Amino acid sequence: MRNKTKKVFVKNVPIGGGSPVAIQSMTNIPVTDVRATLAQIERCRQCGCDIMRIAVPDMQSAAAFAEVRKQTQMPLVADIHFDYRLAIAAVEAGADKIRINPGNMSLPQLDSVIDCAKEHGIPIRVGVNSGSVNKDALAAANGNKAQALFDSLGAYVDRFEKRGFDSLVLSVKSTDVRETVNINRLVAKMGYPLHLGVTEAGLLRQGLVKNSIGIGALLADGIGDTIRVSLTSDPVDEVLAAKDILVSLGLKRGVTFVSCPKCGRCTIDLENVAETVYDYVKNIDKNLKIAVMGCEVNGPGECRDADLGMAGANGKYVFFKHGNRYKTVDANEAIEQFKKEIDLIANAD
Ligand code: SF4
Repeated sequence: MRNKTKKVFVKNVPIGGGSPVAIQSMTNIPVTDVRATLAQIERCRQCGCDIMRIAVPDMQSAAAFAEVRKQTQMPLVADIHFDYRLAIAAVEAGADKIRINPGNMSLPQLDSVIDCAKEHGIPIRVGVNSGSVNKDALAAANGNKAQALFDSLGAYVDRFEKRGFDSLVLSVKSTDVRETVNINRLVAKMGYPLHLGVTEAGLLRQGLVKNSIGIGALLADGIGDTIRVSLTSDPVDEVLAAKDILVSLGLKRGVTFVSCPKCGRCTIDLENVAETVYDYVKNIDKNLKIAVMGCEVNGPGECRDADLGMAGANGKYVFFKHGNRYKTVDANEAIEQFKKEIDLIANAD
């Protein structure tokens, strides 16, 4: 059961109100390199990204953002820190949403940003991070950081609502996984759509683990309307990881890929075979279970459970479809033949 939230639109992508959980990523190069930014956005789009965020740190970037806006259909979020004039410039440049930390600007400046977004009919993501919780809020909450962040966010939300603006997406992030989960469980009660992520999660391996636990625990509880798996890596990795989290929890269509951990019984180049098959299936938009197993011991059992599977041993691969063993092929032609079987099953009604 998903947490009930209000629905907002980022261009044509709904967030909240029971909509599919939207996948976000963020470009990691200066937007002033318009061509490279567009290329990165396109790579992410092809892997299943729904919304792309772009940092707008100065007026030159705001002008470049406008150029990017003209050349892609992807819903774009402008990420703004400190200078409210950049937020207004980004909205006027065609941002479909802006992300601000209201603590970074004065209240009259915040009001100008709210009014501008209202006039252009776009939502605002209000993001606060545990690192920026202020001392007064912390003291008022008796040192309870989660409560302090919740209270700070609540005060900002009041300000938006009093100004007649409720097209909000909320996010409260921490580098600490437990803290992220606890805070978001509190914020979920506000009824606004939630953007989930574990901030500054680290390099690929640590980042994947932290985000999977944090985002996964919340999504499994029905909390969260859009996610970004933040990684020190290619944004495409963020998108693929987000997709894997959603597919694993049954919140998105896609391929569940199974491969065994390999052991001393394995006589095939399992890592390369599994990698090649995963690359081939990762963007298939259909609920399928595909298995690649390293031997004839547990391999057939797992493969039988899959829509399509192959288990290799001693220069031969056995193929399984919907639980039935149906073909044995030589190792040197196994991958090509398996790809053809994947095409058939992926394109079948
Ligand atoms: S499927 Fe075979 S190779 Fe893979 S881990 Fe199991 S026993 Fe080992």
